[in-house]
Amino acid sequence: MLQPIEPVMDASFPPGHPRDLGGPWHSEAACRSDEAGLFFAPSKEPTAARLSREEAAKRVCARCPVMLECREHALLQPEPYGVWGGMTAAERRVVLARRRRREVELQRPAPQIAAAG
Ligand code: SF4
Repeated sequence: MLQPIEPVMDASFPPGHPRDLGGPWHSEAACRSDEAGLFFAPSKEPTAARLSREEAAKRVCARCPVMLECREHALLQPEPYGVWGGMTAAERRVVLARRRRREVELQRPAPQIAAAG
């Protein structure tokens, strides 16, 4: 009797990375065929190695046809780890903080402009 084929998950890619998702844009992900482990840090990775790995991952993202979809997905979830949409987790936190500040500013009443006298 035939057994169902189990999907092979690369242990270097936590579930949820574009190459493992099954959504409409994930099949276009450039990282589907790239070196495993490029997008997520191994434990106790030295800073210089992390920076080098992240730059290599960003170069893959730069030629990815679904970079904007991926980036927005990672910002909306939000995805706490790894390089998504050409951005590191730290860079995404900065963007999210800016978005929150902008939302707060938009909710404030507009300043009254005094009439010139
Ligand atoms: S933008 Fe980067 S992380 Fe996102 S799908 Fe493309 S290659 Fe993968």
